[in-house]
Amino acid sequence: MLYRRVLLGLGAAGVGTTSYFLDKSPLTGKRRLILWGENVDIYIGQITSENLHTQYKERILYESSIEHQLVKYLSHSIVQEIPIKRDWNVTVIDDPSVNAFVTPDGSIFVFKGLLDIVDSIDELGFILAHECSHVYLRHSANQLSTRGILSVIVMLFQLWLFGDIYNTSMAENLLIILPMSRKCELEADKYALILESKLGLRLEGASSMMSKLKKYELRTELLSTHPLSDHRVKEIIATTMKLKDETTPHDYEVLRLKIAVATKLFEKYEKIRNKR
Ligand SMILES: [Zn+2]
Repeated sequence: MLYRRVLLGLGAAGVGTTSYFLDKSPLTGKRRLILWGENVDIYIGQITSENLHTQYKERILYESSIEHQLVKYLSHSIVQEIPIKRDWNVTVIDDPSVNAFVTPDGSIFVFKGLLDIVDSIDELGFILAHECSHVYLRHSANQLSTRGILSVIVMLFQLWLFGDIYNTSMAENLLIILPMSRKCELEADKYALILESKLGLRLEGASSMMSKLKKYELRTELLSTHPLSDHRVKEIIATTMKLKDETTPHDYEVLRLKIAVATKLFEKYEKIRNKR
């Protein structure tokens, strides 16, 4: 009996601690669980990005390469619109994978395979804005915190019910972690479109990019960290319609001056790529 009371006490303490660490999302205004401050995000990000640099060190493109310059200047314009401080930096990896990701300290990694399939600066802008949105919205901290607390709650519950601990990570993933990850992806898409509209990037680039990525995805959303492309395109179109109502075509031309350098670099990159 005492054993169960201790578990109950620990459970209650856990719930109390959890509600203390609820943080407000800057995009949705809703409360979500984050157990630490941004300095921890930066620390985790730095370790992760250092490991990634070691892992890919033979294949990192020179900073003078057109690919690095293009990603650097376009990312630079995007992060000017994000109200957080990070030492944003860019790494382009000479690898055919169609992929890009970011670590919470603001280190952006782009694989050359992704650059090979982009047909406009608007498409590339969407991908980079999406990645930077994950940092601003603190998705990684939210997911890591939830995973940690969830494991403790499930463990206590199992001890209380069965007096033993079983491996339930598959069920936790399917029921909580993966749906949460998919929700974060949709949020990053939404904020990426807001960022794009601030830079005069054409929002159609988002849906054309997603349509291209369709062939690289899993067939079922249930087992995936990302929503299916069709689902994302549907949400992207809905957000695009709303943002377009608020912006005139003239605004887009003026705002596009903010990405003038990156636009020139993209034209140069396309010419070089077509000759290869
Ligand atoms: Zn993402």
